[in-house]
Amino acid sequence: MKSRWNETEAARCADALALRAYTSRLLGSDKSLVMHGGGNTSVKLTQPNLFGESEDILYVKGSGSSLETIQPSDFVPVRLAGVRRLIERDSLSSRRMAEEFGAQALRPGVPSIESILHAILPYKYVEHTHADTVLAVANTVNGARHLQSAFGDRALIVPYHHSGLALAKACAAVFTAQASSRTIGMVLLHHGVLAFGHSARESYEHMIALVDAAEAYLHRQDAWTLSGLSREAKDARPTTAAIAALRRDISSAAGFPLLLTRRDDPLIHGFVNRPDAAPITQQGPATPHHAIFTKRVPLLGVDVAAFSAQYRQYIQENRPATAEECFLDPAPRITLTPEFGLCAAGISAHHANAAAEIYRHTIEIISRASLLDTYQALPPAEILAAEIEYGGFEHALLARRTPANRWLGEIALVAHADSPVGQPCIAALLEGGAAVAGLERGTATDDNRWTPAYQGITCATTDKNTRERALEQLVDTFGGLDMLITDDLSLIEPCLPLLKLSPSQGRVAFLSPQGQALTVFHQTAATLAADRIRLNAVSYAPTESEQAARLAAALCGPLFAGTSGALVPVHGFNLVS
Ligand SMILES: [Zn+2]
Repeated sequence: MKSRWNETEAARCADALALRAYTSRLLGSDKSLVMHGGGNTSVKLTQPNLFGESEDILYVKGSGSSLETIQPSDFVPVRLAGVRRLIERDSLSSRRMAEEFGAQALRPGVPSIESILHAILPYKYVEHTHADTVLAVANTVNGARHLQSAFGDRALIVPYHHSGLALAKACAAVFTAQASSRTIGMVLLHHGVLAFGHSARESYEHMIALVDAAEAYLHRQDAWTLSGLSREAKDARPTTAAIAALRRDISSAAGFPLLLTRRDDPLIHGFVNRPDAAPITQQGPATPHHAIFTKRVPLLGVDVAAFSAQYRQYIQENRPATAEECFLDPAPRITLTPEFGLCAAGISAHHANAAAEIYRHTIEIISRASLLDTYQALPPAEILAAEIEYGGFEHALLARRTPANRWLGEIALVAHADSPVGQPCIAALLEGGAAVAGLERGTATDDNRWTPAYQGITCATTDKNTRERALEQLVDTFGGLDMLITDDLSLIEPCLPLLKLSPSQGRVAFLSPQGQALTVFHQTAATLAADRIRLNAVSYAPTESEQAARLAAALCGPLFAGTSGALVPVHGFNLVS
């Protein structure tokens, strides 16, 4: 790994805090260092308080911000002495720690849970990442010995402790006893790595030096290069119905709809086909932060009920007596099978993609650790503690259910997505929290609409094979289909198997320009009723396509949950029969 420090860009930074943000973004832009809110950084500055007296202030990453995009305003300023003194406490509940941080903060904001650790280290700059390479070396049966060989006396080794006060105290003890002039960082076993320095560049480059040393060590031990396995032509892809059935089962176990995104490449294919796939995947995540998105272990195969039973048992056996409320559902987030590859579930496209990306990195970490030695994760109780504290975020999203997320975890397919009626329809569905696939005729998609929740699919014809390919793309991206919005009733038939597998309820909104095809619509609604799929229609005049599009989306919403076969005209007094 090479330093990405750029003298010209650094020179544009007006002050130490801007430099802090700059090198934090350098770390955050490399997914092998941190992903999806992981990691944290800080800088210690001296500045005058309200009375003109000098005060030492710790600017530390705000909880919830991402190192990839962090700006100076995303760092929360807290009084250094007040936060550093918390190390004297024997214990501190999460709630009490948050209150104490709040009392030391110069302005509203939630400083990182590792703020005490940042405060006690005697360096102006401190960086913390979950570097894949360091975890591949550390998460092994002989991790401490390998780290010693990789880093020598440049990094101290700290046994695993839960984030917050316990980890800060463990680091303080190791640093006080062992730090020397050669020390540039610390490895937090089963968690990640810390680096520090007296300048922004020095501190950042100490992190890069440690990651580079771990990489060089893996090379020396023939544990760097990973071989994949190509899927053979005879291996048929999974059917769309099989994937949608898996999504339905996972959603049913969770108690709310989830999206399911599928990934397959030679590395994934080789990993899921390993003879030792069961023991290596059922160990646990590389760092507790990953479990928030992936859960502790993946489901191997498609028996969701068995996974849920084991997950309930895991909670029962490992839940600490003092645990706060537990909002964890027993549904898997990662599924691995030789046929499917990797399927990742999430309540939004962002969360499903994050889970998939994190597990793809986990595969690399486990594979390298297994080449070096035997992969070893934390005991289940330690992972569950992190899952309880930070996981179960879906509960909060659903509890705050508003019109803006009424379709969270649901999938819509919009025909003629690039037409005047398709565009506002997609906008309405995205505003309601749905993931949306649009069948486009091949014209350019509006870049401003780009979001992971929208997938444009080129499908210019009504040819059977082309439509099949389009549905495969839909299901690989989001996992199934709950809502179809179409001006073409012939699209219902190929979508029907997927609509039947909706974890909520399959529904169709038919956009009928000038009241076309309404006789067929009524017949189709009666046929679909047997499968409990709702079909309602909007007839409209060409000048009212935007209103018609929004109404079609609304017909898929909760207000019409008990309605099927309804025709709603939007052309006011200019009635069309
Ligand atoms: Zn961490």
